[in-house]
Amino acid sequence: MSLLTEPVRSTVFAAIPSSRAGDPALPRLSVEFIGTGDSYGVPAFGCECAICREAAYNLELRRTPICTVLNAEGEALALEAGCIEFATVLERYRISAVLVSDYSPGHVYGLRSARPRPLRVIGPPSEPSGEPGIDDRPPVAGRIAAEPFREMAIGGFTAVAFPSSPGGRRFGYWVAVGDWRIVYVRRMGSMPGESIDFLVDRGVDLVVAGLPRAPDGGAIEALASLAPGRCLLTGLDCKEDAWLDSHGETLPGDAERARDGRVFPLLERRVAEAG
Ligand SMILES: [Zn+2]
Repeated sequence: MSLLTEPVRSTVFAAIPSSRAGDPALPRLSVEFIGTGDSYGVPAFGCECAICREAAYNLELRRTPICTVLNAEGEALALEAGCIEFATVLERYRISAVLVSDYSPGHVYGLRSARPRPLRVIGPPSEPSGEPGIDDRPPVAGRIAAEPFREMAIGGFTAVAFPSSPGGRRFGYWVAVGDWRIVYVRRMGSMPGESIDFLVDRGVDLVVAGLPRAPDGGAIEALASLAPGRCLLTGLDCKEDAWLDSHGETLPGDAERARDGRVFPLLERRVAEAG
């Protein structure tokens, strides 16, 4: 059965209000990169590579742990909450939910600063052997295990989780908002064929993704199969920055490295494309 013809099962979450909702200073629809690094960041402590040495002096090249915000007129989804200053993200945006690829510290560390604010954290089913990033006390209300390929209506967003790693321990997300279909994958690489088929069926305008630990033809092939109009790379460590320095132009989707603090307004680009 095609995923497009399968009856839509929907789970509805209401938005959480915030003082910044509807703030005219916020772009109508945008992707904001709060942090674009792995859990060590760039420069990585003790690393003497050329990328880290340069980033030690050039603040623009620094990367803090990963967190991306999809913002639609003040209502927002966070993709990962690795950044230490996640509480400030909650002050700026009305975050309806945090979508995490898994519960490793580099993806959920910032949730500690969110306590005791109620917050939905949506991710893969919990692993039986504990989760190092979230301690035993419930730091956030309503941690939710997403069901793969099931639509979730989260405020004005429609999100669908899909397995993004072999065995399905890590999830990626397809998110529809406005005219845009956005895919987030923590590490683009050996995605299950079922997930690639799902994404090709649904369509993709923008990919927000990281690279696999050892970028190879498989990652490029997976990216190319989605045929995105645009690709923004995030969650990078210094080795991946170095790899991109020499291989970046080989990636499809007009791939561009995201940087901490960069905001990409989506509606403006869409209007420009239509014109
Ligand atoms: Zn380094």
